[in-house]
Amino acid sequence: MNTIPHYVNGSLVFQEGASPVFNPATGEVIATVPAPSASYVDEVLTIAREAALTWSSSTLSQRTGILFALRQLIVAHTDELAEIITREHGKTLPDAKGEIARGLENVEYACGLTEHLKGGFSSQVADGVDVHSFRESLGVVAAITPFNFPIMVPLWMTANALATGNVVILKPSERDPSASVFLAELLTKAGLPAGVFNVLQGNADTVNQLLNHPDIDAVSFVGSTPVAQHVYETATRNGKRAQALGGAKNHMVVLPDADLNVAADAAINAGYGAAGERCMAISVVVAVGDIADELIAKITERLDRLKVGPGDEAGMDFGPVITLQHRDRVLSYVQGAAAEGAVVVRDGSSELGRPGFFIGPCLLDRVAPGMKAYDDEIFGPVLGVARVADFAEAVALINANPYGNGTAIFTRDGNAARLFSRQVSVGMIGINVPIPVPVSSYSFGGWKSSMFGHAHMYGPEGMSFFSRAKVVTSRWPQASDSQIDLGFPRTR
Ligand code: NAD
Repeated sequence: MNTIPHYVNGSLVFQEGASPVFNPATGEVIATVPAPSASYVDEVLTIAREAALTWSSSTLSQRTGILFALRQLIVAHTDELAEIITREHGKTLPDAKGEIARGLENVEYACGLTEHLKGGFSSQVADGVDVHSFRESLGVVAAITPFNFPIMVPLWMTANALATGNVVILKPSERDPSASVFLAELLTKAGLPAGVFNVLQGNADTVNQLLNHPDIDAVSFVGSTPVAQHVYETATRNGKRAQALGGAKNHMVVLPDADLNVAADAAINAGYGAAGERCMAISVVVAVGDIADELIAKITERLDRLKVGPGDEAGMDFGPVITLQHRDRVLSYVQGAAAEGAVVVRDGSSELGRPGFFIGPCLLDRVAPGMKAYDDEIFGPVLGVARVADFAEAVALINANPYGNGTAIFTRDGNAARLFSRQVSVGMIGINVPIPVPVSSYSFGGWKSSMFGHAHMYGPEGMSFFSRAKVVTSRWPQASDSQIDLGFPRTR
């Protein structure tokens, strides 16, 4: 059985496998992944601390050169990387390539580090006194990532963390850990010194050891809400800087003036892409006024044309979900929906008979708060439709939801769209754009239970998260300036 290694100090490190990695399209175990002992985690952190001593003083031009080389290597190896992602995650190859492209943006952004790390200078703030500021690295940072974006989310964190001079310990999801090892190998080829980027495989115990370890200075986490909250609370209690992004329940509002064909296309693409296993997936379509029946008819007609199958087979729209347990959990929401008062339009059973962890597209009408199928993040190919009377009710529904990751509105009314973006308690908003993941020169982050901490991921907030400011006040006194003055220093 193939065992997926750690990547430490510039080399692959093989240990006995502890948990299975499946090919979700066949249901077979294709590898195992180790769970490191506490003493091995200590050993890795000793290597990381040592590497931080020199990497933190590396020149910005050296870092820029490595990031540019990484960009070229990722472009050159996109097909290989996409195959690795599809084999362990199950998403289609074109979707895996889309994830790589969005991850690459973060490397491109980080290539501008001399601009991003520019400090400030104020001359003559008091007589003969100047002030300047600059940013330094934090030291050793832990990047802890979820299964659903095995390369994009590691790149959200890694590009800026390395650009700002930190050493990275990446703990990828144990469900699809190979893409991280591939990234480590590319970074070594790009010229990154040994020990600066390490992949430590493992599970919740490994994460908890990192959260409590004195040699970790900051924690960047993406995953489900309960774990995000635990990670944020534990890391900050231990005095570490932390950002922890959690789960979501994203609503897409369709106003009566919207083009319903465009809205139905968007609901299909954003609801069922990657089998709904995206934190920015649309999970609730909010039909405003009397459009629900017509919109559902358009969605159903498109949904019946979707092709579900192995991600490496041409022409598939979406693949399997990540595990059999997850498939059964997703199904349980659909099977329980009618008893909760929803209407099951499609139940996903068309794909259940085949090997692998497949479930067909599911559509639930008349979902509402208080139903599990509405309240919980299902994270599968299940779209719910909520019916509301007007714009105000749509906004109230979104704002009453505990999550606030993404949302979208479909309309031709510019003022309604503007009011929507101002009134919703959500971090990322799309106007006729169903998956509004910001480009890398902005930052990514939800509100409420979708994020713990204040610094959003990547972009300018990511640069700031992974670095800390120093402010230097300087004076070059002349002999004639000599005087004793015990008063608090004043500028005037
Ligand atoms: P998860 O929370 O189960 O796992 C995420 C990471 O945490 C993994 O590396 C895992 O090993 C570790 N982990 C799991 N349980 C832990 C515990 N009890 N203590 C410490 N560490 C633990 O998430 P997942 O199932 O891999 O990913 C899907 C979730 O991630 C969904 O909820 C999705 O919405 C969310 N997500 C959010 C974003 C975002 O940007 N907000 C992006 C992608 C995914």
